Amino acid sequence: MAIRSIKARQIFDSRGNPTVEVDLTTELGLFRAAVPSGASTGVHEALELRDGDKANYHGKAVSKAINNINSIIAPELIKSGLEVTNQKGVDEFMLKLDGTENKSKFGANAILGVSLAVAKAGAAKRQIPLYKYIAELAGNKDIILPVPAFNVINGGSHAGNKLAMQEFMILPTGAGSFTEAMKMGSEVYHHLKNVIKNKFGLDATAVGDEGGFAPNIQSNKEALNLINEAIAKAGYTGKIDIGMDVAASEFYKDGKYDLDFKNPNSDKNNWLTPDQLLDVYLSFLKEFPVVSIEDPFDQDDWNAWSTITAKTNIQIVGDDLTVTNPKRIQTAVEKKACNCLLLKVNQIGTVTESIQAHLLAKTNGWGTMVSHRSGETEDTFIADLVVGLSTGQIKTGAPCRSERLAKYNQILRIEEELGASAKYAGKSFRKP
Ligand SMILES: [Mg+2]
Repeated sequence: MAIRSIKARQIFDSRGNPTVEVDLTTELGLFRAAVPSGASTGVHEALELRDGDKANYHGKAVSKAINNINSIIAPELIKSGLEVTNQKGVDEFMLKLDGTENKSKFGANAILGVSLAVAKAGAAKRQIPLYKYIAELAGNKDIILPVPAFNVINGGSHAGNKLAMQEFMILPTGAGSFTEAMKMGSEVYHHLKNVIKNKFGLDATAVGDEGGFAPNIQSNKEALNLINEAIAKAGYTGKIDIGMDVAASEFYKDGKYDLDFKNPNSDKNNWLTPDQLLDVYLSFLKEFPVVSIEDPFDQDDWNAWSTITAKTNIQIVGDDLTVTNPKRIQTAVEKKACNCLLLKVNQIGTVTESIQAHLLAKTNGWGTMVSHRSGETEDTFIADLVVGLSTGQIKTGAPCRSERLAKYNQILRIEEELGASAKYAGKSFRKP
């Protein structure tokens, strides 16, 4: 069954910025996909094509990417007669048509929109749910539901507070099911709101881009204390672990780390060397149930990465470091720089390459955490992706804001559909 039509349009993401939406039709109907967008963007990512015309949408319009779909990709793909069930063939066709290494001709946002829509159409053609179809594409036989990593305190470039580290997450690894993990996450989230309100007032409970609270604190340790207190109040001490995304590339300056980077007059004497920052992490590990740290150092500070991975037994996640790119992943494997891949579909740009990136990580003994972006849409593709690949872990924001909950809610539906055969990754989230 071939594609009948492909039409792209500009819609808006959760931050109110333009993004790409694709409608693809086959004889079975309409399949729609939308493309997410990140704020802390690694320099090694595939290119997100934006118009750059400052007079319109602050330069963020995507009319070029949309035009590339409607006037080049759509007619060529339809003419090719490729079946929607031939995901690999379709993705390779688009890559060849683009012809650049970082998808800069059409834009990774253009290519991804079509790739996602094709996958949805392919699942419909096979008459199976999207997660089962993705499992087939990836050769995965054992369906496992992920531990959700709820980003409950936001800092870094995602929030208007002083906090340098970008995300503080809770992982209900002690839950018995995904449904119970949602209950624990939701309850702790609301306890956290009260803890923050009592300490800093109601105006400190405003939320950041990913639904987490963004109290105007500067101490990263204080953020961990607030979370620990909320977990205890909810009665889940020992059942919920903590994860962090430091996004350290955002505050790397002249070989040092500036934990006061949002202050333009920060004191250079307080900037930390890689070793000093490592000591900060080691002290966190002593005091808090931290099980996962993402981007602890700058994306090109390889030595510091290898050191923390060797010195700890927690999960060290590469995001800006690896940008879901096979070459960067391979280098990180060789340097033993981290032990988990953060998988973002828009960093790499096609469904096929996303699956390959996960398999590459898995082959090398790494874990994979599937991730949303800070600019999200109502599209729930990554929920089916994480279940289909059964990577054991997903981060898609706080249990707050519907563009985040849309993904968690979809996993609840999948768990319900699986019924008695549903399995939750729990404590083995790193290698389910
Ligand atoms: Mg990150």
